This record gives sequence, C-alpha cells and structure tokens, in this order.
Amino acid sequence: MIKYDYLIVGAGLFGSVFAYEAAKAGKKCLVIDKRNHIGGNIYCENIEGINVHKYGAHIFHTSNKKVWEYVNSFTEFNRYTNSPVANYKGEIYNLPFNMNTFNKLWGVITPEEAKDKIEQQRKEAGITKPNNLEEQAISLVGTDIYEKLIKGYTEKQWGRNATELPAFIIKRLPVRFTYDNNYFNDKYQGIPEGGYNIIIEKMLQAADIKLNTDFFENREELETLADKIVFTGMIDEFYNYRFGHLEYRSLRFEHEILDTDNYQGNAVVNYTEREIPFTRIIEHKHFEFGEQEKTVITREYPAEWKIGDEPYYPINNDRNNELFNKYRELGEKEEKVIFGGRLADYKYYDMHHVIYNALEAVKKEFGN
Ligand code: FAD
Ligand code: UDP
Repeated sequence: MIKYDYLIVGAGLFGSVFAYEAAKAGKKCLVIDKRNHIGGNIYCENIEGINVHKYGAHIFHTSNKKVWEYVNSFTEFNRYTNSPVANYKGEIYNLPFNMNTFNKLWGVITPEEAKDKIEQQRKEAGITKPNNLEEQAISLVGTDIYEKLIKGYTEKQWGRNATELPAFIIKRLPVRFTYDNNYFNDKYQGIPEGGYNIIIEKMLQAADIKLNTDFFENREELETLADKIVFTGMIDEFYNYRFGHLEYRSLRFEHEILDTDNYQGNAVVNYTEREIPFTRIIEHKHFEFGEQEKTVITREYPAEWKIGDEPYYPINNDRNNELFNKYRELGEKEEKVIFGGRLADYKYYDMHHVIYNALEAVKKEFGN
C-alpha cells in the first residue's frame, strides 16, 4: 500500500532539504533515520545551556549567495569566524597557515621572507609535482610546518601515512601571506543562533518521521510505502556490498562538562602531535559567545571504521574512488531512487555542498 510520494532514508541535511522542498511541491514524505534524533551529523544537544555539536564542530561557510540566503531563511546566523589554534607540544600556532603562523615559527615579518623560507624548504625536499598529501603539504608550506602541524595530525586523523593520502585533503586549508586567522576563504560564515536543530526541525515540519528505524532491517516493507526513495546512507550498503566495501574513517567523541567558564579560550584547538590520541578539543560555548557558568568540551578521537560503526569520512583514494564509480553506475540506472549526501555520493562534502546538491536534486525532480 503506497502511502507516500517519497521515502527519505536519513534525516540529515540532504534528506531534510529534500523533504522541505518536496512538501512545498505538495508531496508527502516519510523520513526515517536509524538514530534516535533528526539532523544527522549536524545535530546539537543542549547541555548546561550550551549547544553541543554532538558529532564534531560544525561551522557553516559558503561563497554561494543562494545557499547562504536559503539557510538564513530558517534562522539567523551569528558572526562566528572559525580561527582554530594548533597546540604542538605546548607551542601555540595560528591556523590556517598564515603570517601569524610563519612569524611564530621562523620569526619572519614580511610575506616575502615567509615565501623565501617556504621556497627554500620546498627546493631542499626536491618536490616538483606533488603526488600525495605529504608532497602537496611540503610544496605549499615547507617541511617545518609539515612536521609540526600537518604530519602527526593527518596520520592520526586518517590512520594512514601522509604519502598514501590524496593531495586534495590538504588543499581544503587556505595558505595565506596575510595576518588573517580566518580558517575559511568563503564569503559567508557563521553559526545558526540557537544551534542547528532549529533548521532541521523547520525543514521536517510537514514530513512524517520515524526514528530508530534502519532501512536495511526492514527494507522490503519500507520500499512498498512510497513511490520513490531518497537514499542518503552508504551506497555500498544499498547494493549489499556486491563489488566490495568502501572504506570510511570513524570517530569517537568524548564529551565532558567542566566547572569552569572558559577552558581553552577558543572553540577549536587542534593537537597536532602524533602522541596525543585525539585530534582536537572543541569548547562549544565559544561558537555562540556563551557566558554560561560551566563549559562543555569534546575530545575527538579518530578511529578505524568497521561495519556497524559510524562512517564519518569517506577515504577518497584511488582504490575507493574506482569502487565507488561502480556503485555510482548502478545508482544512475535506478529510476525510483535518488542518491545524495556525503555517504551516498561518497564525497568529502561540507554542509553548503550538501544543500546545493539537494536543491539541484529538487530542481530535477520538481522543476524550477
Ligand atoms: P548525514 O548528516 O550523515 O545524514 C545521514 C543520515 O542518514 C544520518 O542521520 C544516518 O543516521 C542516516 N542513515 C544512514 N544510513 C541509514 C539507514 N540504513 N537507515 C536509516 N538511516 C540511515 N561541514 C561544514 O560545512 N562545516 C564543518 O565545520 C563541518 N564539520 C564536520 C565535522 C565532522 C567531524 C564531520 C564528520 C563532518 C563535518 N562537516 C562539516 C560535514 C557535514 O557534517 C556534512 O556535509 C553534512 O552534515 C552531511 O549531511 P548528509 O545529509 O549528507 O549526511
Ligand atoms: N590538517 C592538519 N593539521 C591541522 C588541521 C588540518 O594537518 O591542524 C589537515 C588534515 O589532514 C585534515 C585536513 O587538513 O584531515 C583537513 O582539515 P579540516 O579542518 O578541513 O578537516 P575536518 O574539519 O573536515 O575534519
């Protein structure tokens, strides 16, 4: 018995944007999620009056005006600008790599001096055409920064040598020859006032929602409920791993309430040495300039992924990209399934990419 136009698997950002736009087009949606809450990885939990980003720090940034206006139509965004600092064996460096970082490391004052220093280190390393993350990093910022701020962090984050990782991962980070600590180059940036849940709640207002429901545990019955499926889970799982498993990287979050009003003076502090097992500590109140008496911090531990764990990051090396292309080819032949989001597209998307893609999928489906 078909009751719905769309069964949406996953109440994250992709599924929620789709559900909101589908409702506007007069369609009826059932949204399911295996977790016990909506929002996917942008979900926040209010603890001690602080919006705690339960699945890691989420800072919204985009250069796409339409996407920015779209998210702002659900709630206002504050003026938060992400400026993480790196702690390497007790030494503090500004991120992303900019004149403050170069000055602290080498004592250089001018952009020219910094560029000379990097050029000298790149020459010594003999890199002409970077083929992997290590070579890309050294050619961008030199060996000193690579050794102190990149190698250890990257190898614990990904559980692989930096020589086995794709170069694009490090290109996410700006390198600047100005004294500007803004982590992003995007035109628009901020945190939704009151946290991310408000946005998702509004997006899912008109949909029926079933939580604690895993698509694969009841697939046959769920598939009969709707004309079409929007699938935002793992694409290899959708096809029962028939070509083999895609690899992911998982995380473990350790949340702690502390009896102090300011633990680290910044929302994000990265721990870049290999010996410390977590990559960063997030102090959530600083995303919203909170003045609560207590604070909540989260240590983020990278973890090997195995079936049943949360697949936080796709690992986009050649092996996995080739495998994904096989699944994508199957996906493209489906007439009744729309795939989207970080897991189904197996891409290292930020939130703005996901919203853009969901709006494109909506356009294809409903026109205009
Ligand atoms: P998800 O949020 O993963 O939602 C998918 C949903 O599908 C989940 O709720 C899952 O439970 C559900 N699901 C999966 N399989 C099934 C199934 N079989 N049955 C039922 N439900 C299922 N982006 C930024 O722009 N800025 C940031 O600062 C930022 N920081 C990040 C930090 C971390 C640690 C991580 C992991 C990501 C970060 N991102 C950031 C990326 C951002 O989280 C994603 O781009 C976005 O949330 C992806 O939305 P989605 O809907 O594709 O996936
Ligand atoms: N990175 C690093 N040192 C840092 C921060 C980031 O080497 O202090 C590298 C690391 O390889 C990481 C990548 O840059 O995976 C991208 O960092 P980003 O902060 O964008 O990662 P995310 O927030 O997506 O985990």
